[in-house]
Amino acid sequence: MVMGMNIELLFDLFVQPELFDRHARDKTVRALQTLCDRVPDEVFVSMPTFSILAPDAKVDGAVYCPVPEIVIYLSPSLEDEPQEKVDFTVGHEFAHIYLCHHEEDESMITWIPYLDQPTEVEADELVKQWGYTVPEDRRRVG
Ligand SMILES: [Zn+2]
Repeated sequence: MVMGMNIELLFDLFVQPELFDRHARDKTVRALQTLCDRVPDEVFVSMPTFSILAPDAKVDGAVYCPVPEIVIYLSPSLEDEPQEKVDFTVGHEFAHIYLCHHEEDESMITWIPYLDQPTEVEADELVKQWGYTVPEDRRRVG
């Protein structure tokens, strides 16, 4: 692979400026840098196109018409979390798209707790392969 994913290329490919308040999202930007460092280029190449919605907490409301329609939402409250948690969350949501979980109609199985949902387990396993640490509050018993 000659591409070499980096933060500027990632912003060019996946970030629409009106959806991402870069000035207010330092930790989120750092987490995207970490994503570029950890995720193999082949993964980026085979990703469907998506956009990232990362608003400033000061935005009370807004209307967007994102194209493409796959959107990773990254809450402003992430800026109050430890960097490792932000890194993990960004990697985890990215993994969901790579694994095409957005295409599954009934991805939530009602009688299985959220953390034990197959899609959650699968996304966490993938980010572990990429070098992320699953946060304590997402560790499963057994
Ligand atoms: Zn998830």
